[in-house]
Amino acid sequence: MHGDTHPEALKVLQEVFGYDSFRGPQQAIIEHVITGGDALVLMPTGGGKSLCYQIPALLREGTAIVVSPLIALMQDQVAALKQNGVRADYLNSSLDYHEAVEVENRLRAGELDLLYIAPERLATARMQMLLEQAHIALFAIDEAHCVSQWGHDFRPEYRQLSHLHQRFPQVPRIALTATADVPTRHDIMEHLQLHEAALYNSGFDRPNIRYHIAENQGNAKEQLLRFIREHHDGEAGIVYCLSRRKVEETAAWLERQGLTALPYHAGLPAEQRQHHQTRFLREDGVVIVATIAFGMGIDKPDVRFVAHLNLPKSIEAYYQETGRAGRDGLPADAWMAYGLQDVITLRQMQQDSSAADQQKRIEQQKLDAMLGLCEIISCRRQALLHYFGDHLDAPCGNCDNCLTPPETWEATVAAQKALSCVYRTEQRFGVTYLVDVLLGKSNERITRFGHDRLSTFGIGKELTANEWKALFRQLIASGYLSVDMEGHGGIKLTANAKPVLRGEHALTLRKPSKAKSATRRGSKGASTTLPQGELWEALRQHRRELAAAQGVPAYVIFHDATLAEMVEQKPQSLAALGEISGIGARKLADYGEGFLGVILAHREAE
Ligand code: ADP
Ligand code: ZN
Repeated sequence: MHGDTHPEALKVLQEVFGYDSFRGPQQAIIEHVITGGDALVLMPTGGGKSLCYQIPALLREGTAIVVSPLIALMQDQVAALKQNGVRADYLNSSLDYHEAVEVENRLRAGELDLLYIAPERLATARMQMLLEQAHIALFAIDEAHCVSQWGHDFRPEYRQLSHLHQRFPQVPRIALTATADVPTRHDIMEHLQLHEAALYNSGFDRPNIRYHIAENQGNAKEQLLRFIREHHDGEAGIVYCLSRRKVEETAAWLERQGLTALPYHAGLPAEQRQHHQTRFLREDGVVIVATIAFGMGIDKPDVRFVAHLNLPKSIEAYYQETGRAGRDGLPADAWMAYGLQDVITLRQMQQDSSAADQQKRIEQQKLDAMLGLCEIISCRRQALLHYFGDHLDAPCGNCDNCLTPPETWEATVAAQKALSCVYRTEQRFGVTYLVDVLLGKSNERITRFGHDRLSTFGIGKELTANEWKALFRQLIASGYLSVDMEGHGGIKLTANAKPVLRGEHALTLRKPSKAKSATRRGSKGASTTLPQGELWEALRQHRRELAAAQGVPAYVIFHDATLAEMVEQKPQSLAALGEISGIGARKLADYGEGFLGVILAHREAE
């Protein structure tokens, strides 16, 4: 076969999925897999990974087996495929015995194009036997970074997937992920035996996401509320907190401020958790406040912002969590507030963890990288992509540092004062105490220890308490100081501190922002360009009714972008409606009349 090998692939894209053309490397990947090749696909969230195996699934004979780690994700994907008239189903613990047997029978009878399975189930003897009896078109391994210990979502079950290749050497495999640094990538190839696979790396950039990392001014919740009110009023978002208690407090507080905000964490009863997740998926404008337990496998395309009220443990986690914003490609925000306490808490949690030494070192390095990202004064996106082994030539123009370049200051002398104060108080005290000594504030403890007689007592009156705290945060974040092992929060010097104390190493740091400028910096939100007006609302209402009647999220019927195009084009016939992106043959047949009716009625009303 030459050149344009698979005109059918394009036909399927247009007729089944309703899209005009392939995006980026999709076509190359699809053709490679259709012809029986293995592939490793690195593509950012929202890049369109699913079609890379769904289209080959429809064009190769037999059933595609899709390994996916999360039940919620499987359910959504299967619901969306069925809307497009594709014969898809899943096998997971949400099915009872009889339902599972029925799906198994359909697999054996060759009545499925795609079957989604959880990795632990795939390894069972029963499943292996079933696979022997079925005709398999391909294996797709979604979230392939779960196979790696270097990744942040290690799942031991994924390791067993290497057997697939041994048992079914002739079946092509496609592994996909949106987060894999270079060591993780090697792990994937190693453990899934993908050395011969074609690598498709489209980078990890999410250009539609605007990154902001603000300093916590002591009222992060209010900073957040201002940000939501100004830029995402009435829109869906996720707010991540570190602890369950903070999740509940924050959700309740946001509710009192008039938002629809629902808590989600592992300590809530399963029913309530499910209920909140469903409301987030199905209603408009719900903000979910969650621990990191939330979001894996949430495919909701129109999340307009992701906010962190605490520092994530690694850049991988940060990137994956923020990556849940703007899957539909429309502008979205990633917003974070962080402060000294975050740094101390995370450092302590790490030291107290029972992990093996090597694991601890890995965690330590990951946290250091995360802290580095917070404190840099250059483009955040360049730093993020660099971390994942990607390269961006010029600053992005769509992060806080690009939009409002931070001020810097020559901090060497102040840093020397701070470090020598730590030294002279014998490396046993926390930041609050140290700041009091620097400011020359006498109190009972300070006099008891005789620290009011130190040479560093009161030598720091040129900075405010908050400025000193920010400096300590930066010194801890950049590894000049460390937090004491026993967990009392005592601050110690590290080996890196010496050159600074001796004046051999100068420090230029990010200027601590004054309350006002921090607000201004945080407030450059990405504005969303969704249409407004009666027709838009009427289409959304119609979509809501259809979704409610079937018990599926609204975006499974049509995405916002598809409705937006209806508003813009105002198609006057079914044929014209079918031209709109996201409307395939099946959806046109099922929903065309209804939406056309809404559009035509609107014209009459005008
Ligand atoms: P990923 O799994 O990489 O995060 P998805 O497969 O969920 O991304 O795709 C993201 C969105 O882009 C989905 O809404 C999908 O329907 C849409 N999409 C994918 N490929 C195309 C295409 N070629 N043209 C238009 N939209 C596409
Ligand atoms: Zn930038």
